[in-house]
Amino acid sequence: MTEAVDAGLGWTVQHAYRGSEFFRRKLDAAGVDPHSIRSEADLPRLPLTTKQELREAYPFGWTCVPPEQVVRIHASTGTTGRRILATYTANDLEDWAAMFQRCYEFAGVTAADRVQITPGYGLWTAGIGFQAGAERLGATAVPTGPGNLNLQFEVMLDLQSTVLCATSSFALLIAEETQRRGLNERLALRVGVFGSERWGEAMRSRIEELLKIETFDIYGFTELYGPGMGLDCREHEGIHYWDDYYLVEVIDHASEKVLAAGEEGELVVTTLRKQAQPLLRYRTHDLSRIIPEPCPCGSPFPRIERLKGRVDDMFKVRGVAVFPAQIDTVLSAQPGLGSEYQVLLTRREGRDRFLIRVEAPEVSGTEVLSAALRQELGVRPEIEIVPPGSLPRTDRKTKRVVDERG
Ligand SMILES: [Zn+2]
Repeated sequence: MTEAVDAGLGWTVQHAYRGSEFFRRKLDAAGVDPHSIRSEADLPRLPLTTKQELREAYPFGWTCVPPEQVVRIHASTGTTGRRILATYTANDLEDWAAMFQRCYEFAGVTAADRVQITPGYGLWTAGIGFQAGAERLGATAVPTGPGNLNLQFEVMLDLQSTVLCATSSFALLIAEETQRRGLNERLALRVGVFGSERWGEAMRSRIEELLKIETFDIYGFTELYGPGMGLDCREHEGIHYWDDYYLVEVIDHASEKVLAAGEEGELVVTTLRKQAQPLLRYRTHDLSRIIPEPCPCGSPFPRIERLKGRVDDMFKVRGVAVFPAQIDTVLSAQPGLGSEYQVLLTRREGRDRFLIRVEAPEVSGTEVLSAALRQELGVRPEIEIVPPGSLPRTDRKTKRVVDERG
């Protein structure tokens, strides 16, 4: 394993250097001779790559193969600035599908399953990634794409789909709608594969309870093939990632120093086989940690903790840094609350107002909740209880933090 990793790393660095002006300049500027990177121990000598650099390299700046070898292009959603373009060779697509197939296998999906795929198709990597993995496994892909609840239910009922793939917010929407329509007994769903955004334990148990399924958290992003880069196993204690395809380091977001195994920070990935667009120490903005202990499931693939959030999700209130995952943790521990919440930040006369809207059937216990949140966050929010189902749900990514401080 180690030899294969070292060989993959050495190949990647030399390929990147040879294949693009982008990486050649980066490595030259850092004074790194690509031939000197021979093993995983050399990894910290490579310069980090940022999202901003990939954006500036738009469209083909960090593609390292000639155009005739590129067989497909995807792009990131581009909600926060310029798009990042993703290019693939035929081999890259095969590797992506193989990793995705592994995800399904970890979730216990087999060739006998019917997999309903609701993530979006098109330039976005999601839908087609779910489909390629399902087909490679030999399962039946049912590509409904996002939205259109009536169609989703029609297909789920008539075809008796057994696996549902979705963003977590769309999965919640489907789960609540299933209950509202009283369809639970007539559905054949048994597994949910959800991802593309961070979702807490409260949301997870609500979806599992309403749909009577086992859910799996999938990891991935466009710059690194797409979704399918890791999945929690049936132990549900962290996400296994595929270290035969890419390496993970954890760095301190501010100092950029590599952290010891088990410490929490920003995930940094380096690919081992990616041809069209290799990644060298790419800063993902995802916050997590490597779990050093072996998984009880016995899999040799290493694990990261489920994502705590993104570096960009962090917001500051009265000088205190807050991550939405911390709010999740507190809400999950309070009985009687829904899984949905919204943070509203405003400013009046120079002072931040920090309001959290939470769904619950009864308006009580706000003092206890506010105190518990203060304990965890270090800053006290006001609480507003709103009726269940009243906060926005979407089929893409739910925006939980509304910052109107200007
Ligand atoms: Zn495991």
